[in-house]
Amino acid sequence: MCFLVQNNEILPIIDKCSSFLKLQGVLAWCVRFKEKNPLQITTRNLTVAELSTALLCLVRKVQSVYFTTEIWCIERGQQLPDSINLLTLSLFLDKRKILCVGGRLRHSNLPAERKDPMLIPNNHLICDLTIKHYHFSYLHTGAEATLANIRTKFWIVNGRSKVKRVIKQCIKCLKVSAKGKNQMMADLLIARVSIAGVFNRVGLDFCGPFLIKLIPGRAKKVYKCYICIFVCFVVRATHLEIVT
Ligand SMILES: [Zn+2]
Repeated sequence: MCFLVQNNEILPIIDKCSSFLKLQGVLAWCVRFKEKNPLQITTRNLTVAELSTALLCLVRKVQSVYFTTEIWCIERGQQLPDSINLLTLSLFLDKRKILCVGGRLRHSNLPAERKDPMLIPNNHLICDLTIKHYHFSYLHTGAEATLANIRTKFWIVNGRSKVKRVIKQCIKCLKVSAKGKNQMMADLLIARVSIAGVFNRVGLDFCGPFLIKLIPGRAKKVYKCYICIFVCFVVRATHLEIVT
């Protein structure tokens, strides 16, 4: 319940959560306990509306700490100072008091949260949790795909480099993309590097077994055979022989 009473501090509860969904759930329970009588509400599962409210509460609180100047300027209808590198994002406060990123999709029929994603800082744990959540949910997608999925709801400041950095730490992706070590190759045999006639020096191998019929047609008896492969060391010519 700490975040409900600490108005000017970043949510200490965030530091204790290792996953985005867990954090959202914990906050949703806190919101429910704050707004209703705890004795009546411990049995029901969390609803989508409650989870959504918790997420908005979380984002609003993080924004109030990390984007104080921007919110202050926008609330008073003032232009953002030139020193702020978020000028190109056309920031605005929506009716839920969330700082959103404007864009050129105002006339599109996409959902509102997709047209105007919520701004989150890239130097807070919520950013790492969000990236990991989308990366895992979409089965370990690459940086570009993860960023595109995140931007359906959130806009991370300098998101591309941050997403790459977080994905680089993913153990599963690291294992999949790891390259094997190459062994040092030994010297070639003297037979392979000296001049000689064709099939003077050969390598020998077998393949099989194969089942063959000595008499074509409906003969029942089949014989097991192998194929002997002769490979010339000098010109790489190949000769095959059937061996029974
Ligand atoms: Zn991964």
